[in-house]
Order: sequence, then structure tokens, then C-alpha cells
Amino acid sequence: MVHIDPNSLADDALPAIVNRLARANVQGLIGYPASLSVIASFIEQSSSQRLTLKAVITGGEQLTDRDRRVLARVFGTEPHSNYSASEVFDFASECMAHCGLHIAAEDVVVEIVDDSGIPVTQGHQGRIVVTNLHNYGMPFIRYDLGDTGALLSGTCPCGSELPRLSGLVGKSNTYLHTRSGRRISPGGLYLDRLASLPVVQYQVVQEDLDTVVMYLVPAAGQSPEELSALREKVHDMFVGAFGESIRFDVQFTDRIAPGAAGKHTFVFSKIAPVAPTSSPGGRGS
Ligand SMILES: [Zn+2]
Repeated sequence: MVHIDPNSLADDALPAIVNRLARANVQGLIGYPASLSVIASFIEQSSSQRLTLKAVITGGEQLTDRDRRVLARVFGTEPHSNYSASEVFDFASECMAHCGLHIAAEDVVVEIVDDSGIPVTQGHQGRIVVTNLHNYGMPFIRYDLGDTGALLSGTCPCGSELPRLSGLVGKSNTYLHTRSGRRISPGGLYLDRLASLPVVQYQVVQEDLDTVVMYLVPAAGQSPEELSALREKVHDMFVGAFGESIRFDVQFTDRIAPGAAGKHTFVFSKIAPVAPTSSPGGRGS
């Protein structure tokens, strides 16, 4: 087994990392999607040795459409997104259909609730609370993982009737807050719209109550005119999500460093909420 520290993925370290993986003849990779995507993008854009894998499993953060496509293209297999928490271990995973994450309902009860703890209807985002059924030493009952997500309706094409979570949108402290006390959920920003644009990485940061900045790492090889057009396009695409009271800015950067524990945070707010808010119907936005 080869362990790669996600904080070690600097550009000049990548050739040696890919060499290590190739020498060890790895058949599968498990890791944060943003970290695996850095390795995959390097392989794709350089004359580096290729890695053809049997399986790629991502976890710890949301698997974006862009990262999914890059990983599938470079490693020759579509990644499986996995959701785990140290308190309840792995409890939701994608099947071969890749239509949401099946919950291991034999072992854990997963509910999506609003801020009052009331379950929301399927398709609506809320806080993820779990009850594990077989942890007799330390039972967790309606334990709030601090993540937000939604349950999917309907049956998965794979035929399994285990309930499914939609793509996870991350920690609930990633909500943005307006002066009026409104909360904007990461899911409500529809950041996957960026997947169609020449953008390698992104991060939305609420700097203060009035300012939100989207940091973008643009794909290489764009002219100054193309970069300017890209900035304008992204601004127009998202400015409506924040409302008039927030100044929304788009800035380019060379690299977005992972946060604590090497995880990439897509959205975070540097401020505390203005006032306690509730979310009738659990729409979370
Ligand atoms: Zn399925």
C-alpha cells in the first residue's frame, strides 16, 4: 500500500508521486476527490506515465462532476463516491449506477432534518443525523454529523431499494449568511455549473457580511482576453445567487490549498450567523 499525503501534492512533487504509484503497480486509489483530481490532471497534461486502475473511491468531501469526469478519463474507471464519518464509519456509497449514495440501512438510520430536528421531505436539503443500530458500546441516536444533504426519491437504476443520499454538499458551517439573516446553502449555488468552464479548482469564501469572493484556478493556456471573458461569465452566472446586499467578486489564483486534514473546502464563511434562523420545509437556503 502506498500512502500519499494530500498536503504534499505540489506541482514539483507530482512526477515522483506518480512514479511511486506506478512502481507499486497500484490497482486502485482511495482519497479525497480534489487530491486525486490533482494527480489525474497532472498525468493528463504531462507526458507522465499512465495509471490504469480497477477502482477509484473518493470520500471526505463532495465529488464534483468535473473531478468525476477527470478521474474517469485518466484512470479508466468511474469513481465511486463514499460517505463516512469517524463516529459511524462508512455508511453510504455509490453503486455501479452512480445515481446517489446508497445508505447502509441495515446498519444505520439516516434522517435529513431542519434546524428544529423535524425531518424534511425527500429532495429537500437539511442536516444529516444518524442513528447506528449495532454500536452497542457507544450508541449514537440522531447524532448530527454537521453535514448537509438530501434524500433522493424513486428507485435506483441498479435495482437496490436501499435509500439514497444525493451528492453531499458538505459541512453545515459552509452556509453563507446575509445581513438580513438569510442563509445561502452551498447546494443552492449549483457550483457544478462551473464544470462546463475551463476551471481547474474553485472556492467560495464569504469574507464578511457584505462580501463573497469566488477564487478560481483557471485551466492553463488561456489568453488574457479569454481569462477576462471567463471572469465575467462566472460573475454573471452566480451573482444572482447572493442577492443585492452582497458584493460578489471573482478572482483568479494559482492554487487553492486544502484545509485542515488535507480536505478541500468548496464553500466556507469567515463570519458567524447574524441571528438564529429556522428553515421551514428544510429547504436550507
Ligand atoms: Zn444503485
